[in-house]
Amino acid sequence: MDYEAIIGLEVHVQLQTKTKIFCSCPTTFGALANTHTCPVCIGMPGVLPVLNRQVVELAMKMALAIHCNIAPFSLFARKHYFYPDLPKGYQISQYEFPLAEHGWVEIEVNGQGKKVGITRIHMEEDAGKLIHDENRPVSYVDLNRTGVPLVEIVSEPDIRSPEEAVSYLKKLRQMVRYLGISDGNMEEGSMRCDANISLRPRGQEEFGTRSELKNINSFRHVQKALEYEIRRQTALLLDGQEIVQETRLWDTAKGVTFPMRGKEEAHDYRYFPDPDLVPVEIDNAWLARVKERLPELPDAKRTRLKRQYGLSDYDAEVITTSKPLADYFEECVARFPSPKTVSNWIGVELLRLLKQEDREIDTCPVSPAGLADLLKLIEKGTISGKMAKGILEQMYHGKKNPREIIEEQGLAQVSDESALSAVVDQIIKAHPKEVEKYRSGKTKILGFLVGQIMKETRGQANPKKVNELLKRALLS
Ligand code: ADP
Ligand code: MG
Ligand code: ZN
Repeated sequence: MDYEAIIGLEVHVQLQTKTKIFCSCPTTFGALANTHTCPVCIGMPGVLPVLNRQVVELAMKMALAIHCNIAPFSLFARKHYFYPDLPKGYQISQYEFPLAEHGWVEIEVNGQGKKVGITRIHMEEDAGKLIHDENRPVSYVDLNRTGVPLVEIVSEPDIRSPEEAVSYLKKLRQMVRYLGISDGNMEEGSMRCDANISLRPRGQEEFGTRSELKNINSFRHVQKALEYEIRRQTALLLDGQEIVQETRLWDTAKGVTFPMRGKEEAHDYRYFPDPDLVPVEIDNAWLARVKERLPELPDAKRTRLKRQYGLSDYDAEVITTSKPLADYFEECVARFPSPKTVSNWIGVELLRLLKQEDREIDTCPVSPAGLADLLKLIEKGTISGKMAKGILEQMYHGKKNPREIIEEQGLAQVSDESALSAVVDQIIKAHPKEVEKYRSGKTKILGFLVGQIMKETRGQANPKKVNELLKRALLS
């Protein structure tokens, strides 16, 4: 029996606001436990939440970026559950009237484009953090995170493989970074993913029973957890057993999922509109202002770079990985207007150097102007492409400009004809047999002679010039 996986993701993204969603406590990460708290976010009785307008704007940006319809009117609701990291006994979220619905995200898998539907996107508050003591049966609670703003993005069950799930998550992360609404860092918890997965016999329309994998904190683990779950559910189905709808956790160390609790139904949460908060009303003027301030997003940027600079699909994809990388490219092209060359040097050499140190382009020691200067020197014939690679590495590690490095180390390429002609003559004299072969039509031997000249000049001869001069001398 051949089964098909059906996957839908719920993604939580922490929004980068200065203060929390319903109070003025700071959201900065890493403060001493329970110092970023106040009566509102620790849920004291009698306090009143006040919505942070900035949260709505950042959430609107995300909603627009993923092509959702923003509701002119949405409501906050209380979602009740009891857990020590939730002091009020309920989380303020949105339920029947979410901020926005019906969007899509375009992903690419194996060179194929595909749209993943977005069911809804809503705003909510984060819960606190529990820290479990490894040595004693004690848990600690840190409420600094309580009330940090989140958006939850719920996808349609349109995803069909672990690879598509990862591609979707990477796309969302790329978008929140382009929008500047979150750092989207999964390892640090600013982007978290719950994955719902079920199997159905291929060809069957109806979905099977799903399990939900909670809070997986890296792309790799999403992939692994889903792969594991496909194996587990396949084995059960083949054995004639039923899948139980439940919430499971991923054990990173063991590489397995295990049951956490039976799946709660919506009615278990006793949702009702939060009477302490007024409805969120978004009029056309507000919507237009937010739209105006949207940056160019990845898909649009990719299309533009291909059109404006004639980049290939692949190059455009690499260059638009992040906004700072695309900016770097465009700044460099402005100084050295040969887009293909610039994108090659960034895509191959610069990214290799950055990757070695796990560094991002925004902290790259070589400026776009520095790279452009280097490329100009290759174009002029001052240095060869091969030399330039070494010089770029030195620029990367020492922050000097290319001219200084060339001067200091006497690296300039020899293009001077009279100097090169002398070496060419010398090599021709030293290799009469090879010269004879060339003249009798075995022109492949040219490479050997060029090699000898390069050796003699310690690699500093301009190879193009050497070829020219050598051919001329051999034919005369
Ligand atoms: P809940 O709030 O109980 O988690 P929702 O109905 O909002 O449930 O769905 C949550 C996610 O589960 C959505 O992303 C949806 O696409 C996905 N989903 C729903 N049914 C299935 C299914 N049978 N198999 C896989 N994913 C599913
Ligand atoms: Mg869920
Ligand atoms: Zn507070």
